[in-house]
Amino acid sequence: MAYKLEDGVTQSMLMSYLGCRQRFRYMAEGWEPEQTGLGDAMLQGSCFHHLLEFHYENGLRPEDADEELRGYIATAFPRLIDPEPVVAMCCTLFPHYLRYHKADDAKVKWKALEKEFDVEWNGYRLRGKIDGIFLKGKDTWTFETKTTSQFPDGVQTAYSLSFSFQNFFYATALSTMGYDITGTTQNYIRTPMLKFKTADELAGKLEKSIADNGLDYYFRRYPIVHSQRQKARFWTDLISLLREFEHFLLGDIRYPGYRNHAGCINRGTCPYLAFCATGQPAGYSQTKVFFRELEDKA
Ligand code: SF4
Repeated sequence: MAYKLEDGVTQSMLMSYLGCRQRFRYMAEGWEPEQTGLGDAMLQGSCFHHLLEFHYENGLRPEDADEELRGYIATAFPRLIDPEPVVAMCCTLFPHYLRYHKADDAKVKWKALEKEFDVEWNGYRLRGKIDGIFLKGKDTWTFETKTTSQFPDGVQTAYSLSFSFQNFFYATALSTMGYDITGTTQNYIRTPMLKFKTADELAGKLEKSIADNGLDYYFRRYPIVHSQRQKARFWTDLISLLREFEHFLLGDIRYPGYRNHAGCINRGTCPYLAFCATGQPAGYSQTKVFFRELEDKA
């Protein structure tokens, strides 16, 4: 495998590994589909994240969002066939997001935005980037944005393994830097699955849906406290997982046959479906980028 444990471990790599070992292996070897289309939730999430990152750090006017996003897509997703739908969706939602959260955002006391970490924890190198760290009274919280076609409720979010894994992973890494994290504000943005013929039609349908359903339907934030018990349990689980992951990379653990067929065509089609089904790399090529999240970090 081209990726090495010494390169560092991020929470999204571990989530990919847990989701499907085979998919993880393709990513670790640098395989990518030669053409990328929309329909990938990751693309919408990355694009909206970029707008928010730029906005919270520099102040982004809605009228400048289109240009900013196109520049980002050209660099981050050079293989994207048609950027118009994702640009239309993000740039339609963005001004409404700013309006909806304007009062709340004005009160937030940020300690750090887009905080990168690269730390040693129990002999493992943990890396990543946190959307935000802020103060709530005397307590320190993290801020995490998610795009989704359907909101879970607050209890579902707090109980969900993906929420716990990501945010406890961040709290664990931050603990090595002297931060004691009390909780996470999960910031949801709905990116609905609309049928459309052109990007303009998509934007029109989205505006109509916003007018019909209201902004509460599109934006939501849940503040979720991390209990000490949850944190302690997570640390034990993370150590076990990292040890297993290390053995997998060393080739000591082999998983037979299909690794997670529920992941092949679940919410979206796995980008490696053709590779897996045929065993042939036609339509794929190997890049030197094994995990994008490791590229823009020190
Ligand atoms: S197609 Fe299915 S088995 Fe193959 S990598 Fe994707 S999720 Fe895993």
